[in-house]
Amino acid sequence: MRIGINGCGIAGPTLAYWLQHDGHEPVLFEKAPALRTGGYVIDFWGIGYDIAERMGVLDRLHERGYRFEEVRMVDDDGAVNARMSVDALAQMTGGRFVSIPRGDIARTLYEACGDVDTRFGRHFTALEEKPDGVEVTLDDGSTEQFDLVIGADGLHSAVRRLMFGDVDVEHDLGACVAAFRLKGYARRDENTYVMHNVPERQVARVALRNDETLFLFVCRSSLVETMPTAVPEIRATLHDVFGGMGWEVDEILAKLNDGEDLYFDSVSQIRLGGWTKGRTALVGDAAACVSFLAGEGTGLAMAEAYVLAGELHRAEGDHEVAFRRYEERLSGFLADKQKSATRMLGFFVPKSQLGVKARDWMVSLAAKPIFAKLLAGDTVRDDIELPHYEG
Ligand SMILES: Cc1cc2nc3c(=O)[nH]c(=O)nc-3n(C[C@H](O)[C@H](O)[C@H](O)COP(=O)(O)OP(=O)(O)OC[C@H]3O[C@@H](n4cnc5c(N)ncnc54)[C@H](O)[C@@H]3O)c2cc1C
Repeated sequence: MRIGINGCGIAGPTLAYWLQHDGHEPVLFEKAPALRTGGYVIDFWGIGYDIAERMGVLDRLHERGYRFEEVRMVDDDGAVNARMSVDALAQMTGGRFVSIPRGDIARTLYEACGDVDTRFGRHFTALEEKPDGVEVTLDDGSTEQFDLVIGADGLHSAVRRLMFGDVDVEHDLGACVAAFRLKGYARRDENTYVMHNVPERQVARVALRNDETLFLFVCRSSLVETMPTAVPEIRATLHDVFGGMGWEVDEILAKLNDGEDLYFDSVSQIRLGGWTKGRTALVGDAAACVSFLAGEGTGLAMAEAYVLAGELHRAEGDHEVAFRRYEERLSGFLADKQKSATRMLGFFVPKSQLGVKARDWMVSLAAKPIFAKLLAGDTVRDDIELPHYEG
């Protein structure tokens, strides 16, 4: 089958890989002019890690990724309030995890697809279902016909809107997240995730290779008066919300203009009754975004892509059967992941100083694997068996 995929992030290339593997002809469309590089650092484990192994890309991910050793909470003056060794996560995942910039995992998955037909700087603007396929209109006005169309275009998916209209399926979890990268930031703690909290706000930094540092900002959305969209507005919002919160934060904000890959968005989840309609389906954040609070959106996006391709293979191309099995197999699992992610908001941005102290105390406890399992077991564990679709 010829299958048009809108979005070349994580889910898009994973789907293209498995469709090619099963003899289909995927075509990737990506709104950006080239593969997006850099980005925030993601933690990667669980079923996504297993799929990456089946794709033969684990070595490459570890080469490009990091093995952080410690999470450290610091006070206004940089003194350590709490620390947690990453050994606990290593124990919970059997050592099967890696931290890696989003752009590097996206690139690795895309490279695994070989010379898959890809149209950068192109995206879908309309879909029309025909008896034997879907006619797609592209942003340059041209049209193309596909047997199936897949939306892998992230949290604010355009394909989702074309399928279901402007229905409100984005559930705001009450926080905003921002990130940027900077070269040459003088303070570095290698292999350590350093974070500072005051009530409702967190700023963190991670030292990367090539003298780069990644900064992450999280705050309760009540602190953001208007959601910024353009870069100057985002910078102004970060100054307003995070300025004067102690530690190195003012120093970091002073470097905002020199930063790259500035990202800002609300923290939200996509909760849809179904991910398919006719010959069109959604995968990844477009279908069931769990939000960054889950710490696992990448692996889950890959799982959706893998299962969708696998069910198409198993149903010998009968998309109605395959789409139904895809939803049946994953919807409950993703709903549980969304539920447990919502409980993590208080971890990132406690509401009060007492809450910050309690969180730090729990983090200190989690240095012992048995407590780590109690506190984070739900989030880390994947209660699903990944099917084998070979043959
Ligand atoms: C700050 C932050 C931290 C995170 N940390 C983690 C973590 O530690 N671990 C983890 O597993 N996950 C993490 N995540 C979540 C993870 O990044 C996502 O779940 C994952 O990227 C989803 O993959 P996707 O392919 O569905 O969407 P995306 O990665 O968003 O890719 C979508 C692609 O579609 C393109 N696109 C968008 N609109 C269109 C359009 N109209 N037409 C064509 N193309 C389009 C985009 O340019 C992009 O290339 C984090 C997210 C954030 C925001």
